Amino acid sequence: MLLAQPQSFCAGVERAVQIVEAALARYPHPVYVRKQIVHNTHVVRDLAERGAVFVDDLDEVPEGALVVFSAHGVSPAVRAQARRRGLRVIDATCPLVTKVHAEVRRFAARGDDIVLIGHAGHEESEGTLGEAPGRTTLVRTVDDVARLPAYEGGTAYVMQTTLAVDEAAEVVAALRERFPGIKGPGSDDICYATTNRQEAVRAVAAESDLLFVIGSPNSSNSLRLAELSERAGTPTRFVEDVGDVRLADLAEAARIGLTAGASAPPALVDGVIRNLRGLGPVEVVERRVAVETTTFNLPKELAAR
Ligand code: SF4
Repeated sequence: MLLAQPQSFCAGVERAVQIVEAALARYPHPVYVRKQIVHNTHVVRDLAERGAVFVDDLDEVPEGALVVFSAHGVSPAVRAQARRRGLRVIDATCPLVTKVHAEVRRFAARGDDIVLIGHAGHEESEGTLGEAPGRTTLVRTVDDVARLPAYEGGTAYVMQTTLAVDEAAEVVAALRERFPGIKGPGSDDICYATTNRQEAVRAVAAESDLLFVIGSPNSSNSLRLAELSERAGTPTRFVEDVGDVRLADLAEAARIGLTAGASAPPALVDGVIRNLRGLGPVEVVERRVAVETTTFNLPKELAAR
């Protein structure tokens, strides 16, 4: 097995999970969480068993209750809704998503028309769009760029943090060609964890007969890893649960690549390796492209007293 490294939890996901755990330890139950705290069914199920109640809309949270916002961020309209309902909020938005929101506010304050490169319907994109809804347009592809109106004033772009690095670069190039004066973020919006996991999977896919991506199907960064591996010509299987590994797939594969999206817990990776070891001798070789040292502090209301 070729183990892509880095893989699995990123600093933003670790922080979001720790926030819910700390809230469960410190405050009376239930602790409400708006949307999936991170896009992984195992993480959500585990926290639900420990007393977290996941809701899709703040209307489902009783007035005055405690609610955690997920790692993907929320629009100002959701924050206003929480204030109106008198909810106590703990914000688990990843600081790297918060940075993108700040960029949108900065560009909007200058009067720019803003292009968000991202995926429609994803919670992160919805939250980011909500920072300047009247002046932000979502695009995903080069064709979408061609369909943008001819903006007359200043223009700027920002990105969802979990895009495919190579595809996003093509869209940025198309934007620069169409709007030569367009401004971009100071540093790349695609986060370090997304970039590292994509580089690692690229290194491993080239040498693998088959590649497993561990993650849930609504996890944007996990889906991008699977697409990248497929684009490299490597047969790729998405694994949400240890039981998803099918014997038939293994028959022809001498070298199996393994990665996990930023929201997939390390225990799942261990579980898949353990199961494969049960079938016969397995040699595990790591392919590391980066060492990650990023950590994020807990919000001050939860920091250790
Ligand atoms: Fe933050 Fe990146 Fe992890 Fe998303 S993938 S939670 S932006 S570190």
